[in-house]
Amino acid sequence: MEFAYLKELDDKYIMNTYKRYPLQVIRGEGVFVFDEKGKKYLDFLSGIAVNALGYGHPKILKVIKEQSEDLIHISNLFYTQPPVMLAKKLCKISGMDKVFFSNSGAEANELAVKLAHAKGRISKNNKHKIICMESSFHGRTIAALSLTKSDKYGDKFAPLVEGVVFVPFNDNEVLENTFNDDIAAIIIEPVQGEGGINLAKPEYLKLARDLADRHDAILIFDEVQAGLGRTGELFGHTSSNVEPDIITLAKPLGAGLPIGAVLMNDSSASILTYGDHGSTFGGNCLVTATALTFLEVLEEEDILNNVKNMGKLFLERLNKLKDRYSFIKEVRGKGLILGVELDRPPGDIILKLIEFGLICNCTSERVIRFLPPLVITENHVDMAIEIIEKVFDQINK
Ligand SMILES: *Cc1c(COP(=O)(O)O)cnc(C)c1O
Repeated sequence: MEFAYLKELDDKYIMNTYKRYPLQVIRGEGVFVFDEKGKKYLDFLSGIAVNALGYGHPKILKVIKEQSEDLIHISNLFYTQPPVMLAKKLCKISGMDKVFFSNSGAEANELAVKLAHAKGRISKNNKHKIICMESSFHGRTIAALSLTKSDKYGDKFAPLVEGVVFVPFNDNEVLENTFNDDIAAIIIEPVQGEGGINLAKPEYLKLARDLADRHDAILIFDEVQAGLGRTGELFGHTSSNVEPDIITLAKPLGAGLPIGAVLMNDSSASILTYGDHGSTFGGNCLVTATALTFLEVLEEEDILNNVKNMGKLFLERLNKLKDRYSFIKEVRGKGLILGVELDRPPGDIILKLIEFGLICNCTSERVIRFLPPLVITENHVDMAIEIIEKVFDQINK
């Protein structure tokens, strides 16, 4: 369809909550996508960290075809294999005991909030407060929004879930002073994505674990964006060696199909019982069979290692740009979740990058964010850097 006409229909019929880039995507192949004219773009956003294997991975296409021929959905009222096999695998790789499947990241966090409240209510303090980070992002449902500190997301939807206490990210002292026996849970993104690519210090995560233990609170790690290989490790928190009580997952898990998961230890799982939570679509056969294949490919193709290598290379190359362009304030991130913070809002830089054939986006006002597929090669890093240089050269003038 011609772009102008598509835009007209989109504006007319789809609720205007997204400001889209002026690009119509027709199909994807490997780490590239194509517009209606056949123009090719290097995709360093991957559908916001969703398409970790890029586009058209043969094993993903195969499992989608075969599983959908057998059974797409039957509801959670019946026994089926795919969700069980996926849950078993997720427990094995995370060290957790049980899984609940949702359809998105926000929904996964929604259950985490329910678990926090339910546990707090049976504690002797009958408590419900949750500590959250400033510059966090946990999603757009009312509960997930309540955990997300930003005027941009929250204010106009009041009343939100009450009892949320915000603290500055990575500040040990404030955390220690804020924690007490009225806290039911604390939720942290070990790598903040929407908040501008900020890494939690391992000591901070350790302190959160200690304080949660001391005050009988649940420690929740939101790994929706950074989990499952994005950092070059299985989880954003892996290298800290801290074990949370709950991990929430989503973005890359379904290789493009919508799925979220709440991984929890037995003590958190035991808080709820039959009928306390549910989801009609959650964990259906198609998405869970696909997600299991995604996790298998992650291992078979040694993708974490690729993320480590490519992440290191890309970070080095971006850091070199910092010496050349004075408007770059900082380059940061880990693995293939990387941010370039500018000293100004990027204006039309993102549009220019896309026009020159590199897809990425801007988060936290001044941070150009890169979330490429985890399967990129050195050649793709070269291509990306070349395009960034072309665009940045124009700004310097
Ligand atoms: C994207 C994201 C969410 C929300 O996920 P949805 O699937 O959009 O609901 C939650 N937490 C983090 C860290 C995210 O990046």
